[in-house]
Amino acid sequence: MSTVALVRCNSYQDEEVDTAVRRGLILLGGVERFVRPGESIVLKPNLLVGREAERAVTTHPSVFRAVAQALSSAGARLLYGDSPGFGRTEGVAGRAGIARAASELAIPAADFGSGETVSFPDGHLIKQFTIAHGVLDADGLVSIAKLKTHGLTRITGAIKNQFGCIPGALKAEFHARLPNADLFSQMLVDLNLLLRPRLFVVDGIVAMEGNGPQNGRPRPMNTILLSNDPVALDATICRLIDLDPRLVPPIAYGEAFGLGSAKAIDIVGDPIASFVVPDFDVNRSPRATAGRPGHVSRIARRLIVPRPVIRPEACTQCGTCVRVCPVTPKAVEFKTSGSPPVHHYDRCIRCYCCQELCPEGAIEIEVPPLGRLIHR
Ligand code: SF4
Ligand code: SF4
Repeated sequence: MSTVALVRCNSYQDEEVDTAVRRGLILLGGVERFVRPGESIVLKPNLLVGREAERAVTTHPSVFRAVAQALSSAGARLLYGDSPGFGRTEGVAGRAGIARAASELAIPAADFGSGETVSFPDGHLIKQFTIAHGVLDADGLVSIAKLKTHGLTRITGAIKNQFGCIPGALKAEFHARLPNADLFSQMLVDLNLLLRPRLFVVDGIVAMEGNGPQNGRPRPMNTILLSNDPVALDATICRLIDLDPRLVPPIAYGEAFGLGSAKAIDIVGDPIASFVVPDFDVNRSPRATAGRPGHVSRIARRLIVPRPVIRPEACTQCGTCVRVCPVTPKAVEFKTSGSPPVHHYDRCIRCYCCQELCPEGAIEIEVPPLGRLIHR
């Protein structure tokens, strides 16, 4: 039986967040369960891109601050970092308010820009990862994620957050090598099995729904979730947003590969019924796995799998989508000067990197008509 602490927190006022985080840790048995005095612990917030905290793209600095203070009071020596989807860590952390919180608490930045290859023979799919030096050099990792929608994995919470422990452009290589949600999720689970974060905290005070993880709408959920089991935590998020956890591949593979439990969960703290948001805007269409596990046929991809679509009126032709598309030749490119780029759906692997990182929110994910029909 895994335990998830679900704690009400109605605002980002430092004092209220601090109280909520400390209560959550007590519900899990006390902060001493997770760190010992003198250990170096790296804090991993979600720093996808540089956006103000109010946009709900990144972990809010008050949640980062509260977790840091709790771990620090137990004697941990802290560092922090993330490898953003776009931009440099310092700039992203600065705009998100995390750098300031870290500076006020004298928490130095860890090296997330370079890494080292680590063998992982126990991996179910991936036997070798390159991990940021900042993570490898620390005694332990604490994940401080944000509750958001995600094009590929439907939600991003506890499990997905560790993807930022892979430095820089190597992340894009995984997207290209693992061209569907099943394979990509198996990799995420292997990554978590390798890194084994001590504690997972998810900032759900204001979540993001709709066109996440960068361009969705902030949605107050008034909660912070804490657990040492990321599968149980993400399955609890599914209950909060009334989403079938079987539609979230990282949860399914997390349970199958022994990362945690999606079913045997003891939720402690505040009653879950008071937080449930049944109309949360998240992709509830069926999964499009066909044939052997992890394989999506070309026909299924064309007819069922949601695809990225550019809204020309919102596109500034910045070219970010073209730069981040991980396939060769590019599946999105400029065709006509002065016009938005166009997608080549026959090449597109549906990794949604373009949608995730478009700074204008000009790319949306569209479920093809057959997919909508099956869902109904
Ligand atoms: S990233 Fe977005 S705004 Fe930039 S070119 Fe692509 S669709 Fe247009
Ligand atoms: S076009 Fe977008 S969704 Fe398709 S492969 Fe490129 S980045 Fe991924």
